[in-house]
Amino acid sequence: MIKPITIYGNPVLRKECVSIEKTYPGIQEVIETMWQTLRNADGCGLAAPQINLPIKLFVVNSRDSYAYMSARERERFFSKDDCGIEETFINAEITGYSDEVWTTGEGCLSIPDLYEEVTRPWSITIKYQDKEFNEQVKVYHGYTARIIQHEFEHTEGKLYIDHLSPFRKQLIKNKLVRIAKRKKHYLCES
Ligand SMILES: [Zn+2]
Repeated sequence: MIKPITIYGNPVLRKECVSIEKTYPGIQEVIETMWQTLRNADGCGLAAPQINLPIKLFVVNSRDSYAYMSARERERFFSKDDCGIEETFINAEITGYSDEVWTTGEGCLSIPDLYEEVTRPWSITIKYQDKEFNEQVKVYHGYTARIIQHEFEHTEGKLYIDHLSPFRKQLIKNKLVRIAKRKKHYLCES
């Protein structure tokens, strides 16, 4: 099933999400819905609040982006051993961040038509459960780590625009108000 994506202004995007157990009703269908909605939106990551569910669940696909990138882009966005991932993250907790940071443009399916430069750590260590609820601890880098950080923050009620400087925030303020107004019908659908 493809769900409508919640848009900036919807309070669900600011909620701290709750942990879930294996017994969460219809969890495998929810995960499948997340993947179908992500593919339909042609995105690289989606968090549960974006389909109006305030639970600690997100999906990341950096593999398709890798596939479409030039050799030069791959060098800039991916570490040597990384060809991208397609992974489901449940109850994730980022336990470590590298000191090394990098800056690049970022967007969000819930904030259409906005694209802003964000500085983030290059590498992260993350503890999570996969779609079978097996415990995992992994280290990710570059573009993959960036999407994971972005989606993880959604489960904490944060948005990438929270990282912008006060000056930049002021500049996009009116645009954000317009996004919230223009897309209001989406709020009622979901
Ligand atoms: Zn987002």
